[in-house]
Amino acid sequence: MSFQEGSVGVEDLVLLEPLEEGSLLKNLKLRYENKEIYTYIGNVVISVNPYQQLPIYGPEFIAKYRDYTFYELKPHIYALANVAYQSLRDRDRDQCILITGESGAGKTEASKLVMSYVAAVCGRGEQVNSVKEQLLQSNPVLEAFGNAKTIRNDNSSRFGKYMDIEFDFKGSPLGGVITNYLLEKSRVVKQLKGERNFHIFYQLLAGADAQLLKALKLKQGTSGYTYLNRDVSRVDGMDDASNFRAVQSAMTVIGFSKDEIQQVLEVTSLVLKLGNIELKDEFQANGIPASGICDRKDIQEIGEMVGLNSEELERALCSRTRETAKEKVVTVLNVIQAQYARDALAKNIYSRLFDWIVNRINESIKVGTGEKKKVMGVLDIYGFEILEDNSFEQFVINYCNEKLQQVFIELTLKEEQEEYKREGIPWTKVDYFDNGIICNLIEHNQRGILAMLDEECLRPGVVSDSTFLAKLNQLFSKHSHYESKVTQNAQHHYDHSMGLSCFRICHYAGKVTYNVNSFIDKNNDLLFRDLSQVMWKAQQPLLRSLFPEGNPKESSLKRPPTAGAQFKSSVAVLMKNLYSKNPNYIRCIKPNEQKQRNQFSSELVAVQARYLGLLENVRVRRAGYAYRQGYKAFLGRYRLLSRSTWPSWNGGDREGVEKVLESLIVSSEELAFGKTKIFIRSPKTLFYLEEQRRLRL
Ligand code: ADP
Ligand code: MG
Repeated sequence: MSFQEGSVGVEDLVLLEPLEEGSLLKNLKLRYENKEIYTYIGNVVISVNPYQQLPIYGPEFIAKYRDYTFYELKPHIYALANVAYQSLRDRDRDQCILITGESGAGKTEASKLVMSYVAAVCGRGEQVNSVKEQLLQSNPVLEAFGNAKTIRNDNSSRFGKYMDIEFDFKGSPLGGVITNYLLEKSRVVKQLKGERNFHIFYQLLAGADAQLLKALKLKQGTSGYTYLNRDVSRVDGMDDASNFRAVQSAMTVIGFSKDEIQQVLEVTSLVLKLGNIELKDEFQANGIPASGICDRKDIQEIGEMVGLNSEELERALCSRTRETAKEKVVTVLNVIQAQYARDALAKNIYSRLFDWIVNRINESIKVGTGEKKKVMGVLDIYGFEILEDNSFEQFVINYCNEKLQQVFIELTLKEEQEEYKREGIPWTKVDYFDNGIICNLIEHNQRGILAMLDEECLRPGVVSDSTFLAKLNQLFSKHSHYESKVTQNAQHHYDHSMGLSCFRICHYAGKVTYNVNSFIDKNNDLLFRDLSQVMWKAQQPLLRSLFPEGNPKESSLKRPPTAGAQFKSSVAVLMKNLYSKNPNYIRCIKPNEQKQRNQFSSELVAVQARYLGLLENVRVRRAGYAYRQGYKAFLGRYRLLSRSTWPSWNGGDREGVEKVLESLIVSSEELAFGKTKIFIRSPKTLFYLEEQRRLRL
């Protein structure tokens, strides 16, 4: 429990007194400075990134946490993983582990700790080990293609990930299913200063031998590639070349054939080479601006590598065909439009390749449908995001976090309620902020912001980001969680920080101003049909399979769902999945912006604590009884407080606990005796018990 000998601060924020932001931060800071990076809120683990290797992991620690119950050892992710796994195995309850926090806070590392813990304790044998190996090896592959160096994190996941690990009735792993969300594909063609493209490009260029480079028509070194940022090619402490070998071997372990790996690398190389296709101004005879390719070498090499007609590719890059029922109309693209088409193609190829890799891994690790399975889901997804300039990406990420907050509150309360019921203790209603109104504002089927965006995207006629915004302003002018310049003006309330092209949502975590610029474009996410048709004609089977809509026979006029609609439906699937499971939370916090050890910025942490809703979490958690413990464990700790139970007690545990508490001045309102546990209402009572105990020791 929370009074480990030698513990620093309180190990469980439920015991925090007084309960306010200042004391919460102080407690986390004190613990962090003493290298105690984990703290509980009940069964939630808060993890503060140590930015150093602490000696608290590995087989020895795994063995320890495996043998003890939750509160007997210091807070740890292993303790959470252990509870989750045991309850899955022994109580037959499907589990999910939700890991949230901002970029660089330690989510992905936490998810790997969970996976390695579970892998270490679940089942044995050759068959089982090979499944474990496949599951674990999916990490380096997904990280190579989905992670990149950013300013905040040298190994930042640029996609959200949810993985179901499936077990048989004995608790041995059978396999799993991975779902990925929203790869940040804009990174393929452009990176901020100080950031890199996805790791795989650098790994490939650093790790491929001469023969492979030749086959992929690449030159060694990163300097020759337009899509790779010039100012950073290496990351300290990261060995791209050896990681390249690790990725290839991981792919082999998972079950990719040699040929599949080769094709994946060809497509990766193709993306790099697309970036090198330079476009120039050209003019048609009638003076209309058009575009052309400066040097045909790259486009020809692409054509040779994946077996496609480079002239057709050139045509598709520089012009666009519109098909009506009666005729085909070809228009030429100017340089800007052609560059846009080229980049759109590169982004599309890469993100489809990523999806393909995830599917390919799933094919290898999937479990037959006949078997009855127990499931542990692990969600590693970007937290609430407020940047200087917030766009469509932040909007959907924050929407997802709003939904996760909703799940969190509902499931935490439900869990509490269930425990009270199990223990036969009356339940009192808890007041909390219900964010359903914000979720609705965004996701409502006919009247939500996403629905409005789709309506604008599909509407014929002149649509633009500003017609979209005008529509929102009209619809939501009276909504309590929506603001814009226009609605403010109507209320004679001026806020100069908000531009005319912005709207603002009051999220549970705070207000966020979104700029509508390119919302329509990003939601549409269209690739000119000319390009998908050329890709589909490639001889290389992988590339071809990425563009099924390029098949003229398949080309129905119906457009694919918009990016927003796709995201919304995958969030809905995720929520349904989470609601069917018992939740376990890991809340990750980044202590400073410099990736430095031993530095704790209270201001920075305060903001994250707010986004994570930590105070609300503690409040909900201790709305009824702040503290509870099994009779046996409680008696073990406090029996020395009563003459009748010390030094020996022969009666039942519950009677023993009653005797202990009778001998002290504790009001009966503070206590409830459940079937197996004693419940204590306020932390003060527990502190009093502790105080008494210390006096007797
Ligand atoms: P996120 O996924 O939240 O963006 P990561 O899990 O990638 O963040 O963590 C960022 C970096 O922080 C890691 O690359 C590692 O250097 C460091 N880190 C995170 N968690 C730990 C930990 N438990 N122990 C040591 N270093 C850590
Ligand atoms: Mg990550």
